[in-house]
Amino acid sequence: MTTEELLAFDQNHLWHPYTSTIDPLPVYPVQSAKGVEITLEDGRVLIDGMSSWWAAIHGYNNPELNRAIETQSKSMSHIMFGGFTHRPAVELASLLLPLLPKGIDQIFYADSGSVAVEVALKMALQYHESVGDKKRKHFATIRSGYHGDTWHAMSVCDPVTGMHGIFGSVLPAQYFLPQPKSRFGGEWNAEDIAPFADLIMEHGDEIAALILEPVVQGAGGMYFYHPQYLVEAIRKAHEAGILVIFDEIATGFGRTGKFFAAEHAGVVPDIMCIGKALTGGYMTLSATCTHKSIADQICSGAAGCFMHGPTFMANPLACSVALASLRLLLNSPWQERIKAIESQLKEELSPAASFDTVAEVRVLGAIGVVEMREPVDMAKMQRLLVEQGVWVRPFGRLCYLMPPYIINREQLHKLTAGLLAAIAESR
Ligand SMILES: *Cc1c(COP(=O)(O)O)cnc(C)c1O
Repeated sequence: MTTEELLAFDQNHLWHPYTSTIDPLPVYPVQSAKGVEITLEDGRVLIDGMSSWWAAIHGYNNPELNRAIETQSKSMSHIMFGGFTHRPAVELASLLLPLLPKGIDQIFYADSGSVAVEVALKMALQYHESVGDKKRKHFATIRSGYHGDTWHAMSVCDPVTGMHGIFGSVLPAQYFLPQPKSRFGGEWNAEDIAPFADLIMEHGDEIAALILEPVVQGAGGMYFYHPQYLVEAIRKAHEAGILVIFDEIATGFGRTGKFFAAEHAGVVPDIMCIGKALTGGYMTLSATCTHKSIADQICSGAAGCFMHGPTFMANPLACSVALASLRLLLNSPWQERIKAIESQLKEELSPAASFDTVAEVRVLGAIGVVEMREPVDMAKMQRLLVEQGVWVRPFGRLCYLMPPYIINREQLHKLTAGLLAAIAESR
């Protein structure tokens, strides 16, 4: 198949994320990727600014991660988790547990981020069911969130930019609180928590759980809010018998400068979802983590167990590469790397703040965001970025960078300069 034939077939038969089949956005055929470089079939080399959506924190084609997959495939690639256990699942959990917020000690492996969120929501419902609190069937969240594309995960995504408009009344109705106005690094304004207090007064006894992306809202708007919100929200939720779920699928594994974003607030959620960078971007794997007391409460209910069990639960290949990725991360100077990326992003993206097309520039950890005044013309912008030799995937009004942690100063400079040049050219 020539590259042209491949592209023609793709255009006629393959669906890409959030892309029309009538008028598909262009796609770029990738030949290979190594470190932070992505090589296209036409030989062009791009610096990766996306980590394949928060996942490839060590870059691509890492020898240690490759070895983990190769080795594991020689003993078994998969085995059912019903009735069996295996070293990759147990060793991964034993390395992971001490890194999780204190007291979290029970892990449920799932296939993807969205499924981890579904699992968390189901855990909250089954928990209240088993306590005998049958009124608690709803969830609360803040606006501009993103928690995945499956049914209930979708219902707690932002009601405007999410999928509520299309699916409307068939989606379960949830309670949406305003996005906290207090910014990360700014002053805390206690007014931010008042709407949650009001909601509890009115509907507190119908709410099973509050679900939040701690500190960083990702795909819903790349927004960084004050950690004190989490402190106040947990306190109020617990006073009202509401569980708190943290969705750390995007923020986990160092991206915000802390190992988990919950650490910015020093709080412990009841249930926590992880995914994306868990396997270093090699395979899909997620986990929903909770406290043994909550797990035991769930299992003391009518069902006698938690009602979920994916076919590929704790897939050994995925667990092995996650274990290797976690070891690689822990043995690396990840804090210093992220600090260095953060200060370079701040320095090199700040000139964009004075562009008349740019509304705001913000940086936290290894995340750099240039928010435009108007939505970007994706196809045009993507072409300009590729011409600059960088891989950045804007959405809506947001152009953002979240490179692999192994990126060096020169490569990161190419990325920021390429983004600024493309933004300047796109007007
Ligand atoms: C990406 C993401 C999800 C969904 O994960 P998938 O693996 O795409 O299903 C859920 N929550 C957050 C915060 C995410 O960033």
